[in-house]
Amino acid sequence: MIVVMRPGASEEQIQEVCQRLEAAGYKAAISRGVERVVVGAIGILDEPTRQMLMEQLLVLPFVEQVIRVTKPYKLVSSDWKKERTKVAVRDFLIGGDEVIVMAGPCAVESREQLLQTAYAVKEAGADVLRGGAYKPRTSPHSFQGLGEVGLELLREASEITGLPIITEVLDVRDLERVISVADIIQVGARSMQNFALLRELGKTDKPVLLKRGISATIEEWLQAAEYIMLEGNINVMLCERGIRTFETYTRNTLDLSAVAAAKELTHLPIIVDPSHATGRWSLVTPLSLAAVAAGADGLLIEVHPEPSKALSDGPQSLTPERFAALMEKLEPIAEAVERKLRKGGGVKGA
Ligand code: PEP
Ligand code: MN
Repeated sequence: MIVVMRPGASEEQIQEVCQRLEAAGYKAAISRGVERVVVGAIGILDEPTRQMLMEQLLVLPFVEQVIRVTKPYKLVSSDWKKERTKVAVRDFLIGGDEVIVMAGPCAVESREQLLQTAYAVKEAGADVLRGGAYKPRTSPHSFQGLGEVGLELLREASEITGLPIITEVLDVRDLERVISVADIIQVGARSMQNFALLRELGKTDKPVLLKRGISATIEEWLQAAEYIMLEGNINVMLCERGIRTFETYTRNTLDLSAVAAAKELTHLPIIVDPSHATGRWSLVTPLSLAAVAAGADGLLIEVHPEPSKALSDGPQSLTPERFAALMEKLEPIAEAVERKLRKGGGVKGA
C-alpha cells in the first residue's frame, strides 16, 4: 500500500506513519515530493491485517489517502513518486529538460578504434561514450569482448576526452572492476532477469541503465527495475531496445508504445536504443527521431569508424559522419517536444 500524506504534514507525523507500518511488519520507504510526502509500505501482510491497518491510517488527520497497490512494483511506480527522477551523471542530469545521447562502438576492439570513435562522437556532441568490454554474444564462438583490457581502454578514453562511460556488466564477479570505470552501468537485455546481479547493483549508488529483455513484457521490465530500487539505488534508467516479434526483416521491433507507457507508469528516465532494435544502420536515424518525439530522455547509439570491419554489430553501426548528421536532425525534433538536445560532448565534464 501507499500512504499519501496531506500537504504540510510534519516530520513527526511522517515518522508516525512509518512506525505504524513497521510495527505491522512492513518496511517503510519515503518519497518526498515537492507538494506531498508519500510513504510506500514494502512487504506482504495477511489480508485482514492489511485491511485493518489501511482503515486505521485513513483515520489519521494528516493522511490524505491510502492506496492499495495492485501493481507488482511500487518504488518504480509513478504512484509512489510523482516527480520525474533525474539521474545525475557527472555534471548533468538524465531525465530532465535535456535529451542526452550516448554513443560509441558495440564492443571495445582496440585502443585506436575506441579513441577514434570517442573523439568523433564527442565532436558531434555525444554526452556519454558507450563501449562493451564484456559482450553477451548469442554464440560462444563469437568475439566475447576484451574484458579487463577493454575496461582500461575505456578508462583511458574517458580521461582523454572527458566523456563519461557506459559499459555493461555481465557477471556479478566483475562488478567492482566495472564500477571503477563506468559512470553508468548497463544491464543488457539478456541479463534483465539476473536478479542476483540486480540486487548487487541496488546496493551501490551507481546509475544503472536497465535494458528491456528480448521477450519481456513492460511489467516484467518494471519489476526488474524494482529489484534494484528495493535495495536502495534510485539511480535507475530504463532502456527500450526492441523486442522479439514475428518480424524478421528487422533484428527486433522497436516498441515505441513501451516508451510512452513507461513514462506514464514510472518516474524513471527512459532511453531508447535504435541500433539493437533495428539491426540496420539505415533505420537508426528515423527511429532515433521517432524515439525523441515519443518522449525518450535519451538515446544509446552504436557508432564504429569502419562498420565493415567491426567485430560485432557492424550492420547496425553508424559511421561517425552519419552519427554527426543524426545529431543535427535531432535538435529540431527535441525542440518540437519542448526539450533541448544537450550536445554536451563532455566539454563541461572535461
Ligand atoms: C549492447 O548494447 O551492445 C547489447 C549487447 O545490447 P542488448 O543487451 O540490448 O542486446
Ligand atoms: Mn551491440
